[in-house]
Amino acid sequence: MKRINICHLYGNLLNTYGDIGNVMAISHEAHKNGYEVNTKIVTVGDDFNPNDYDFVFFGGGQDYEQSIVQKDLGDKANKLKEFIENDGVLLAICGGYQLLGKYYYDAYNNKIDGLSIFPHYTKNQENSKRFTGPIKIKDSLTGDIYEGFENHGGVTFLSEDQNPFAIVLDGNGNNGLDKTEGFRYKNTIGTYLHGPLLARNEVLCENVFKLIEKNANLSK
Ligand code: GLN
Repeated sequence: MKRINICHLYGNLLNTYGDIGNVMAISHEAHKNGYEVNTKIVTVGDDFNPNDYDFVFFGGGQDYEQSIVQKDLGDKANKLKEFIENDGVLLAICGGYQLLGKYYYDAYNNKIDGLSIFPHYTKNQENSKRFTGPIKIKDSLTGDIYEGFENHGGVTFLSEDQNPFAIVLDGNGNNGLDKTEGFRYKNTIGTYLHGPLLARNEVLCENVFKLIEKNANLSK
């Protein structure tokens, strides 16, 4: 039977607001399409081999868990970059999205270095302010509308050559200022939308799965 291999990156540490639902939604979609699914948590101290996976999911977390993960990232940065550049499908939510960038400032204003695979960076909001609540966005590529839930103290700024994943219709998104939400590069999406995103937005789940299937078939 055809098989999809999923890496839940730091799944034992970064999994807030039911982000694991994204892995479950992709698994469900894979089963529907006749695939067997193999999911592995790759965490602190584990090797990440980009050729082993068809889909990488990098969830959100609290500052404390993010700081633990941060210390391990150095070993995985080049391999993750290789996965992304080879059109691997990666979805990063909130904390995972922040860690793909240059750095973020936590709630105590400590600077935490990210993977620096992408040029976005994340500052902390003043007076411990957080963006919390429902969010509605429009996909900047397909025009599809997605709904989710955001809860972040960080405010993220994209570089000029980064494309936003979506435009904010309701809520705050990256920074509450420029209406951008997340970023997209090749088959990588970073976003602040918990929900879980793929469980709440079936069209996006189907489209992400199609990318996974295309790559899985190409590589095997
Ligand atoms: N600690 C980060 C922030 O508050 C990420 C939160 C999250 O992943 N939900 O900005």
